[in-house]
Amino acid sequence: MDDLRNDQLDAWDRENMFHPSTHLAQHARGESASRIVKSGSGVHIEDRDGNRLLDGFAGLYCVNVGYGRTEIADAIAEQARELAYYHAYVGHGTEASITLSKMVLDRAPAGMSKVYFGLGGSDANETNIKLIWYYNNILGRPQKKKIISRWRGYHGSGLMTGSLTGLELFHKKFDLPLDTVIHTEAPYFFRREDISMDEAAFTAHCAARLEELIAREGADTIAAMVAEPILGTGGIVPPPAGYWEAIQKVLEKHDILLVADEVVTGFGRLGTMMGSDHYGIRPDLITIAKGLTSAYAPLSGSIVGDKMWKVLEQGTDENGAIGHGWTYSAHPIGAAAGVANLKLIDSLGLVENAGTVGRYLREGLTDALGGHRNVGEVRGDGMLAAVELVEDREARRFYDPAGKVAPKVVAAMLSRGVIARAMPQGDILGFAPPLCLTREEADTIVSAARDAVAEVLG
Ligand code: PMP
Repeated sequence: MDDLRNDQLDAWDRENMFHPSTHLAQHARGESASRIVKSGSGVHIEDRDGNRLLDGFAGLYCVNVGYGRTEIADAIAEQARELAYYHAYVGHGTEASITLSKMVLDRAPAGMSKVYFGLGGSDANETNIKLIWYYNNILGRPQKKKIISRWRGYHGSGLMTGSLTGLELFHKKFDLPLDTVIHTEAPYFFRREDISMDEAAFTAHCAARLEELIAREGADTIAAMVAEPILGTGGIVPPPAGYWEAIQKVLEKHDILLVADEVVTGFGRLGTMMGSDHYGIRPDLITIAKGLTSAYAPLSGSIVGDKMWKVLEQGTDENGAIGHGWTYSAHPIGAAAGVANLKLIDSLGLVENAGTVGRYLREGLTDALGGHRNVGEVRGDGMLAAVELVEDREARRFYDPAGKVAPKVVAAMLSRGVIARAMPQGDILGFAPPLCLTREEADTIVSAARDAVAEVLG
């Protein structure tokens, strides 16, 4: 790169770059936070002003092996030199994509058959929905097409996936959700309406709400439910006890497929290789992305279960080749990054580390903040944690979003050298560090969070 000055880059950025999930006008006026990131190593990033920050959210919970892994960089360079690109249409493959497909299936839960590679989580979920429609068309039930997702679920930013996403910000002014998508209640125990319910009662309530939705719409019009094993962007909310068993019972009864969106949970984040195994989920399709390459290159996948695969295979006998493909499906550079990344996860024992250090981090946050009058709950699972801030803990009164309490705490953490994420709906501090986090680094996150909360809320 040319050695451009920061002020030059900053000016070009504001003039030319359209940033995702950014306040467009404030950014153009130079009023919103911005940063030019230069390098990364382990759990730290460094910006062009020389600030070194502990990344407590692993980018967008994707840099699971941490920054600066030369094993992956070398694999990418080698692949680019040997063969930067060839497509995967009409049966073409590369050593990297074929090896990665085997490695993915070896790590997938029982009953999975094939993996279709894409670029990011959104397009993998689009693929899943198309495969579900294709499946039901082959089976001669063209009316069975609606897709259920949950309020507060996050499944992407496309037309269909933005519709599946159950967060208002992703719908507003985009004419979403599309009407083939229907939402059911989020399994958010802390925010349950009826405070007298215990977890078991709340689980039964969520299953009953799902039953009601299915009865209202008609089971013969509903193809699938898409859900994250643990709600991520919607607030990092683990399911209440027994939730997945209860939900699957309802879905099975009505012949509704289940897509486990494991874009965040795939490849170790919960301290198990896949989140489905962690919570006893038996999905028909699994969405993977982020942790597949630890974001060293864009790559995603749709893992297709045996039940669907058998039908899809039949369908191509009638229709010829399946009419679904991206130019960059199974891109060799992404696949080479994926192979090196999955090997590193194994050799460094990162799945286990996510479980043990993740628990240590949550315990630290609980000790430091659990008793604070404005902390409603500290929760999480594996290397995922959240601190929910409330105006009044006893009355369970939430803050007015206009007060931007969580963003203020996140800014106060940043001034202490630690990145956390203010989750988009509710005053929730989110933590999802790289899976290689050490106990000392967890301590640094905890003390920054404690001091930042004290600074902002007293
Ligand atoms: N599913 C889940 C569970 C996600 O968290 C995300 C991204 N945060 C996506 C899908 C969409 O992935 P992408 O941004 O790569 O399209």
